[in-house]
Amino acid sequence: MSKAATITVLGCGNSTGVPAIGNYWGVCNPNEPKNIRTRSSVAIQTDQTTLIIDTGPDFRQQMNRENITNLDAAFYTHFHEDHVNGIHELRAFTFRNKALTPIYADQPTLDALHSRFGFLFDGGNLDIYPPVLAPNKLEYGQNYQIGDLEFLCFEQDHDSCSSVGYRFGDFGYSTDILDLDEVAVNALKGIKTWIVDGCGYHKEDYVAHANLKTIYRLNEQIGAEQVYLTSLSLAMDYKTLCEELPEGYKPAHDGLRLNCQI
Ligand SMILES: [Zn+2]
Repeated sequence: MSKAATITVLGCGNSTGVPAIGNYWGVCNPNEPKNIRTRSSVAIQTDQTTLIIDTGPDFRQQMNRENITNLDAAFYTHFHEDHVNGIHELRAFTFRNKALTPIYADQPTLDALHSRFGFLFDGGNLDIYPPVLAPNKLEYGQNYQIGDLEFLCFEQDHDSCSSVGYRFGDFGYSTDILDLDEVAVNALKGIKTWIVDGCGYHKEDYVAHANLKTIYRLNEQIGAEQVYLTSLSLAMDYKTLCEELPEGYKPAHDGLRLNCQI
């Protein structure tokens, strides 16, 4: 029997966030609150379980803003800084729960996290910091169950590396993609709601991120009724997007809440 889960968009900004440091808004209207975008991340929650996908530089603020007071595990899409650099904030949960916080990531991401944040895995050189994370290798094409949340992880093309896509029942999350292959498209077929990287916007030759044309092409096969764009850049004003996108497509915004059936 299916049950309800809630998706909260913790952040929908690309690597710079909006405004970028220095209070730079690009073409985004500073008077539109939905243009304030922290780095991309989502929370998926049932009444028993909370999962976080990615812990970027804004992670602590995002969790406090949405009053998400604990988590069961953090899953990662890939190792780029804007998706991982808040990982040390997980320490607070480990100390409070008196248990290592589980994280799941593909092997390249685990390797990068070990290299950049070694103290979180094996303590510090001085032997005074305890390890705080329990790392788990994530395999593409596998189903996972954390608490009462079951979901599928699949590989996505992010140009310079792979990223992990997620399907929770009738919801799909595809941040940081250039394109999707047939396996990934098949993993998403039948979803109702899809949050997808649209950072390429109108650019034909944008690296590492999908443009609108690619998203429309992919969704012809996937068939999501409602598509929300994430990884939104300084070139993407909220109101302009709302006016130009076709029916069934909207920009995400920080704090957006969606329901799905898992
Ligand atoms: Zn990336």
